[in-house]
Amino acid sequence: MFSSLGNRLGDIFDRLRKRGALTEADVETALREVRVALLEADVALPVVKDFITHVKERAIGQEVLKSITPGQMVVKIVYDQMVATLGGEGAEINLLATPPVTMMIVGLQGSGKTTSTAKIARLLSTKKRKKVLMASVDVYRPAAREQLKILGQEAHVDTLPIIDHEKPLEIVKRGYEKARLEGYDVFMVDTAGRLHIDDALMEELVQLRNVLKPTETLFVADAMTGQDAANVAKTFHERVGLTGVVLTRVDGDARGGAALSVRHITGCPVKLMGMGERIEQIEEFHPDRIASRILDMGDVLTLVEKAAETIDREEAEKLAQKMGKGQFDMNDLANQLRQVTKMGGLGGLMGMLPGINKYKNQIQQAGIDEKMISRQLAVINSMTQVERKNPKVLNGSRRKRIATGSGTTVTDVNRLLKQFQDMQDMMKRMNKLGEKGLKRQGLR
Ligand code: GDP
Repeated sequence: MFSSLGNRLGDIFDRLRKRGALTEADVETALREVRVALLEADVALPVVKDFITHVKERAIGQEVLKSITPGQMVVKIVYDQMVATLGGEGAEINLLATPPVTMMIVGLQGSGKTTSTAKIARLLSTKKRKKVLMASVDVYRPAAREQLKILGQEAHVDTLPIIDHEKPLEIVKRGYEKARLEGYDVFMVDTAGRLHIDDALMEELVQLRNVLKPTETLFVADAMTGQDAANVAKTFHERVGLTGVVLTRVDGDARGGAALSVRHITGCPVKLMGMGERIEQIEEFHPDRIASRILDMGDVLTLVEKAAETIDREEAEKLAQKMGKGQFDMNDLANQLRQVTKMGGLGGLMGMLPGINKYKNQIQQAGIDEKMISRQLAVINSMTQVERKNPKVLNGSRRKRIATGSGTTVTDVNRLLKQFQDMQDMMKRMNKLGEKGLKRQGLR
């Protein structure tokens, strides 16, 4: 997430920390570099100016410069300011209104509106146990309503049955009535987008808003479009009135400009962020955790939450027993790899570990990348059950067959087998040590 900005700031702060004593001039120089880094990340100029002014006010004070760790304190001040710029406390979707709570999702075409509508609906139904009804009023784009219906099926969330030639306002009225009569907690409306802001679109949104009186009007912004996203959000806010922003494609190589500009420019909080194409890849937007990730301080809280959501305790205990008895096989390894994928893949997980950015090159050189897990799973899938249970039978010709079958190379197959062997060796050693041994080594 926002790794180029993170790397730039990381370099600046590393130099600052190494200095020991700092003068005002040192801080000025560092802040000039921070300013350039923010501008290059496409953060809007007024936001950058405000950011630097605030940091400077606090960092150049005598207390900071005379402290034992001035560099560290400047970093802390930058972190605090980044949290504030990203929105401070963070804001949740408002579900407190009388049900059905109404929600309108707006934005430009292609920003990820429909996907986000379904992602949010799924989030509310699985995490908050809400009964959600969705409807698309995009009657202009062919198949837009079908797209939402299909996503709804995937998310196990109801969509309003489609009636041909129905007008947007009629759809909204019918949907709201259905939601009210059938006891839905939330009614979500996915609206039409255009490639650019235009009057007809805004007029339609205003009419829809007047009828639906939404509790939440969420603007979907593509994080890849940088500060433009914030400026478009501002126009929507002025015309339609927004209650929050959903930032999409934060998983890509977005530079951070949208995330850092949108709150300042619109006054609206970012409430959620899209972290991939899959329906479950959406997260709440916690400014403190995101600032930590940008500044490479890690985000252990999110990591722990993801683990709690993904890992089934009973399964984990069963696995531990298997390991203890030396019965861990390729099927178990495949399950482990699938869990890593569910938790956001290697890239996602590593981004949450403090200080990992510094090791990026080594990690890449070791062949560890996003696709590694899917390659490894493909290799295991191409093995027979006998091979999975007892990988020792894998001779040269079997390895070649597996490589061909999985679209990988024999080197990939060998690497996985080596990894598996290492894991088994480690488990054997642990078991030999036993409880006493572990205690002696201070591991328990
Ligand atoms: P709409 O025109 O605004 O409704 O946009 P869609 O919901 O149809 O999304 C456009 C494309 O963006 C689709 O291919 C989505 O899968 C993709 N997309 C949406 N959100 C995300 C996200 O958070 N990350 C990534 N990588 N892709 C996304």
